[in-house]
Amino acid sequence: MTRYDVTMTNTTINSTLPQQLQALQGNWSFPTAISFGVGTIRQLPAACREEGINKPLLVTDAGLARLDFVTELIDNNQQAGLETSLFCDVKPNPTGGNVEAGVQAYQQGQHDGVIALGGGSALDAAKAIALMVGQDRPMWDFEDVGDNWLRVNPDGIAPLIAIPTTAGTGSEVGRASVIVDEARQRKIIIFHPGMLANRVIADPALTTGLPAQLTAATGMDAFVHSLEAYCATGFHPMADGIALQAMTLISKWLPLAFSEGDNLEARSHMLAASMMGAVAFQKGLGAVHALAHPLGALYDKHHGLLNAIVLPYVLQHNRPAIEDKLIHIARVLELDDVSFEGFLRWILQLRQSLQIPDDLQSIDINTEQSELIGEMASQDPSAADNPVVLSAQQYSALFEIAAKGHTIG
Ligand SMILES: [Zn+2]
Repeated sequence: MTRYDVTMTNTTINSTLPQQLQALQGNWSFPTAISFGVGTIRQLPAACREEGINKPLLVTDAGLARLDFVTELIDNNQQAGLETSLFCDVKPNPTGGNVEAGVQAYQQGQHDGVIALGGGSALDAAKAIALMVGQDRPMWDFEDVGDNWLRVNPDGIAPLIAIPTTAGTGSEVGRASVIVDEARQRKIIIFHPGMLANRVIADPALTTGLPAQLTAATGMDAFVHSLEAYCATGFHPMADGIALQAMTLISKWLPLAFSEGDNLEARSHMLAASMMGAVAFQKGLGAVHALAHPLGALYDKHHGLLNAIVLPYVLQHNRPAIEDKLIHIARVLELDDVSFEGFLRWILQLRQSLQIPDDLQSIDINTEQSELIGEMASQDPSAADNPVVLSAQQYSALFEIAAKGHTIG
């Protein structure tokens, strides 16, 4: 077995099988090695050595690069004989230009591996840089469409150690990066199984510095990953189980991580849950992400915040297809009101307690580009997994409802 043994596609399904058995097929992959726990960051120099990295490029964002602990990490590495350089030219929604600049820094510094440190933006940029340091084709050729990923030269991918500093995207356990193509103003998903980190160091202490608003937005992103994965079409009972447990953890610990940022117990559970959400969404996502992606590309707003605002409107739209599943989630979360309405009300209360606004106009998104957003959402890869198929017009209409807001529940 190699890391790339995921070539079995659904086209290999035996079409002579009875329909109920044809539905029970999928490609499952959960192989990331994770060192989890407070203090595990101290394992970084040893982890570099184990992965054969002697001259790492540390990729992070400019905000984190200014913090003392990043300087300390680099000093520790230098003391261990690992010549480490810093690259921090990464936008909140990382761009193709950021990745190109990172590849250049990697090659000029003759690095032999990448340390990805940060939230989703820095991790996604770093994973794309590690992918692109040894490829001949432009990155957009590896957009997650069909079997484009087979165009990648897997031997050209640099080894990567991922260190999350937020509990949300779970990008540290994912095999894809979301990168903005500035020319087309689109968020593009770049995918290859070899983009999976060789090692994850998940130290909850690194997430205590996250401000409350970002804790809320990233935590809601993790929740939406789990919820959309659980409701997505497709057969993946392992992902379903992981998604349910992630939602249980988030429902219990996100409010505490939000109100008590230094609570390491809450931060630990949230960091675990965010990775679980990302593992679960191998199964798929849905219309919340299909809308959040174009909104992020066009308005440069926080991804988790967009998801959290759009979520209840999408749930209402999807209701006929997901009501039973939401009732089950309500039961698992031990909500007082085990019903669709009860679940929706609980989401609204959670959102309010995290000071997340009810509509998109509250974060300066108006309906001017409604048609374009509907078009982009309907073409977003996440749209394919939504339990209800929406046309571009339906996405536009849904977006307008989320923009203006209306009373729910
Ligand atoms: Zn997300």
